[in-house]
Amino acid sequence: MKILDQTHDQFVDAFRRNHGGGTHTGTAVYRQVMKHGQTAFDGLDAVARRPGLAGELASGLALSPGRLVHRVSDGGVVKFVTRLADDLDIESVVIPMFRRYTLCVSSQVGCRMGCRFCRTGKMGLLRNLTAAEIVGQVFTARHQLGVDVRNVVFMGMGEPLDNPDNLIQALRVLVDQRGMDIARRYITVSTVGLTAGIDRLARFDGGPVNLAVSLNAPNDDIRSRLMPVNRAISMSALRDTLQAYPLAKKSALFVEYVLIRGVNDRKEDATALARYLAPMKVKLNLIPCNPAPGSDLQPPSVAAYERFHDWLVAEGVFVRRRGEKGGRIMAACGQLGGRGGFRNG
Ligand code: SF4
Repeated sequence: MKILDQTHDQFVDAFRRNHGGGTHTGTAVYRQVMKHGQTAFDGLDAVARRPGLAGELASGLALSPGRLVHRVSDGGVVKFVTRLADDLDIESVVIPMFRRYTLCVSSQVGCRMGCRFCRTGKMGLLRNLTAAEIVGQVFTARHQLGVDVRNVVFMGMGEPLDNPDNLIQALRVLVDQRGMDIARRYITVSTVGLTAGIDRLARFDGGPVNLAVSLNAPNDDIRSRLMPVNRAISMSALRDTLQAYPLAKKSALFVEYVLIRGVNDRKEDATALARYLAPMKVKLNLIPCNPAPGSDLQPPSVAAYERFHDWLVAEGVFVRRRGEKGGRIMAACGQLGGRGGFRNG
């Protein structure tokens, strides 16, 4: 019986079909696994009262977050690698932020979007992650690494809206208060701007989560050179969709802009970007390009980064500086996939 990709209600229904009894025992088992990470049930009164049930659960409950095979840390940032049942590896990153821990999760093994500045894009798409494999990353961080993850961002390997069914089911499980219990306002889905997927996320039955868009360019010409998706979905079509996205109260759309030397870092780029963003309530993360080995794209100098930041601020854009936390372990934006994703064996 599956559990990691099940909401409380889905699990309890299946539990009653498989093991009989009332809702109470199924709820106790669900809480024990999803809230406390415990997979031994002998001490659970509701289970102990029913002879044989602990044994049935031990053999019948499919709890498969994958195997934690590697972890590396740098300045509080921890990148870990999970080996999936078919021997593919995925990467996730724990980032301490103020007093909370954010987990950056992967949604696919590899990615087919082909963004030029991204290591994962160079792998191509190997496969989508299941909802259990997505939720499993949170489970591993909480219960194997002992990190009290409260924020989840879908900014790891893959384009989450290219895997919408499993993303949506994973979101249902993550926000379920009787299990993982992660508040919607602490979940962010980052996309290159797949408009059909954004429309679908807007209708998520658990209520809308935060949306981040990886923009990286002030106009179609530059964006199409950096991000092939822009040849199919123009920036103007993207903005129409973004403007219709239901933001939570006091929230804003997050926009990511990877600043690349000589590509998108001129004053006229800052001006055009500000004009594009003006009709929307946005917070822009300005990210210095992380040069991947073999890439022809280069980071801006510190001075060029500061200049671009100041131009945007002068244009009235809310800009957040993004440092390079995790850069040394290749856990910064666009750098996952350096050792994961390849078949082992
Ligand atoms: S930036 Fe995101 S969408 Fe683009 S190739 Fe990389 S993983 Fe895929």
